[in-house]
Amino acid sequence: MSFKNLNLINPIVRAVTEAGYSKPTGIQEAAIPHILEGRDIIACAQTGTGKTAAFAMPILQLLKRYNPEHKEIRTLILTPTRELAIQIEENFAIYSKYLPLSQLSVFGGVSIGGQLAALRKRVDILVATPGRLLDLVNQRHIDLSKIEILVLDEADRMLDMGFVNDVKKVLNLIPRRRQTLFFSATMPLSIKRFAASILNNPVEVTI
Ligand code: AMP
Repeated sequence: MSFKNLNLINPIVRAVTEAGYSKPTGIQEAAIPHILEGRDIIACAQTGTGKTAAFAMPILQLLKRYNPEHKEIRTLILTPTRELAIQIEENFAIYSKYLPLSQLSVFGGVSIGGQLAALRKRVDILVATPGRLLDLVNQRHIDLSKIEILVLDEADRMLDMGFVNDVKKVLNLIPRRRQTLFFSATMPLSIKRFAASILNNPVEVTI
């Protein structure tokens, strides 16, 4: 299996090849075709499996399809920690090298000023921790009403860290008609129930 076999477009294949990736990982092979079809997915995947690229590559491809004239944020990635937010933004930056799409991460624990300045520029893909995201939305620096794709990354950890109410608030601010990608390292019943309440006819992806 190659990235080309997964129907990924040249600008993305070129960027990941230059990053040293020679072929897709298991989670990428399993998830990417469904994401490109526009399906919701629920995926059980640990860090280190290539799960970030499994959602980032097809998201970039899907976003390319739409009108480049838009101004609002179109994809939201929710993740539990600052470290993960930075890593995900860095991954998107690598894969979007040959595409006219931009990404930004916002997270708590640092002053809001630099993030406000960055938000004045065009952002297609926003990576955020839930608390800081809500602060920025409440202060009207971020508009989530045009989100087309939502990713919940490390959903189990996000709920373990007590973000459940924040995540629910965010869900109320984004359109119901959207594609949702749900990733979790573990799938206890509580996570499955939560996933079922926010996903639309999801494909289950396991590796
Ligand atoms: P993740 O599971 O998203 O934390 O990714 C773990 C590491 O694998 C990251 O350093 C990625 O850059 C790398 N990676 C992702 N996909 C591939 C691939 N297809 N081939 C080689 N390395 C990859």
